[in-house]
Amino acid sequence: MMAAIKAAENGNIVTLIEQNEKLGKKLFLTGKGRCNITNACPVEELFDNIVTNPKFLYSAFYGFDNGAIVDFFNNAGLKTKIERGERVFPQSDHSSDVIKALKKQLESYGVAIMLNTKVLDFAVTLDSCGVNKISSVIIQKGDRKSEIHTDRLVLATGGASYPSTGSDGRMLDKLAKAGITVRKCEPSLVPFVCNDRQITDMQGLSLKNVNLSVTVMDKQKYSGFGEMLFTHFGISGPLVLSASSYLTEEDYRKQAVVHIDLKPALSMAELDARILRDFEEAQNKNFENALGKLLPSKIITAVINKSGIDPAKKVNSVTKQEREKLCRTLKDFEVKISGNRGFLEAIITRGGVDTGDINPSTMESKKIKGLYFAGEMIDVDALTGGFNLQIAWSTGYLSGISLKEEN
Ligand SMILES: Cc1cc2nc3c(=O)[nH]c(=O)nc-3n(C[C@H](O)[C@H](O)[C@H](O)COP(=O)(O)OP(=O)(O)OC[C@H]3O[C@@H](n4cnc5c(N)ncnc54)[C@H](O)[C@@H]3O)c2cc1C
Repeated sequence: MMAAIKAAENGNIVTLIEQNEKLGKKLFLTGKGRCNITNACPVEELFDNIVTNPKFLYSAFYGFDNGAIVDFFNNAGLKTKIERGERVFPQSDHSSDVIKALKKQLESYGVAIMLNTKVLDFAVTLDSCGVNKISSVIIQKGDRKSEIHTDRLVLATGGASYPSTGSDGRMLDKLAKAGITVRKCEPSLVPFVCNDRQITDMQGLSLKNVNLSVTVMDKQKYSGFGEMLFTHFGISGPLVLSASSYLTEEDYRKQAVVHIDLKPALSMAELDARILRDFEEAQNKNFENALGKLLPSKIITAVINKSGIDPAKKVNSVTKQEREKLCRTLKDFEVKISGNRGFLEAIITRGGVDTGDINPSTMESKKIKGLYFAGEMIDVDALTGGFNLQIAWSTGYLSGISLKEEN
């Protein structure tokens, strides 16, 4: 939508082709229906939140940054607000208002919109210099196939996650067949699956202010501080989603282990002193009934099991060594990961069109003249916080304004 608006504003005759019955199905779901449009951090910090190929985005971000997208929406009549973590949302809290603002811009620049229309393929010819060049787009509406002749095409068909929204990754297969290098797609910003009843029994438990790290074959892949959640299938929440950005498919097959520090503010010695105080107050209680002040009730059984201490033992007979084991369990509560929830639940897709095949100043393919890319179908991905949509806005903008200049 952004590419179409900017291409039309730049004097091109533009047709936007969408296979769904309406525009912005995924956008509608973003930010739990509120759409975290972007992040109001300093522009340089945008790059810190890009996990794959941040350098590729220099021209795109500096050409149309987080301030520019907020101005764009404000000028289109959509008021915005900034929340915790510099996350920008529409003031109305409705993602539908973001879609409405985009539609209004599409209309005002005269973009023709073809809904229920699928791009099946595109055709390429050799130009006078022997270079591959876009010559037409093959579309299908209902049973009817037709061809639109054009020498410029922006593909913004998204990744492979949440396929029910229309972004199913199939265009990437077509591109690979056309000789474009496509990096393998993997789910990212996705919850973890654990085949351990002890973990899934804790479903509904939300932990705040914990430290979470992930190791694969004892090598640390991620570490962060914040919130996480236990679910019926394993673990989720902001820390887990961020951690998934750093794990590859192979990592899940190897031994990926989540380590949760349940008491990050306390050193081992401070934690031991705290436990001793709690034990003194619970002199005649069994060990299993003495942790209520230290931990949420849902996690107590799992902590006791992992510590190896007899739950029926009286607290005054718990030894120093046993307390040390308890402290170690609290500082490093391990959860073994057996996989992730896949594309059906992944917020984004890692992989896509290789950035080496795209001119970063224009978003044009280096292999096929007149073919441009925008958004999640490019091999760039970011953490949560509005950064993935910023990628879509910035690359969409750059491809849209480059169409005329280039050809
Ligand atoms: C649940 C959820 C919440 C999210 N929340 C946020 C958030 O708050 N902030 C944020 O920054 N990011 C968020 N994201 C990520 C963000 O939505 C995506 O990164 C972004 O939508 C990508 O934009 P895009 O235009 O590249 O692709 P998409 O939004 O996926 O759009 C691609 C469009 O192309 C159409 N299409 C595909 N193939 C064809 C074809 N062959 N012919 C015609 N049309 C086709 C699809 O139907 C689709 O409408 C969220 C994602 C999900 C799943």
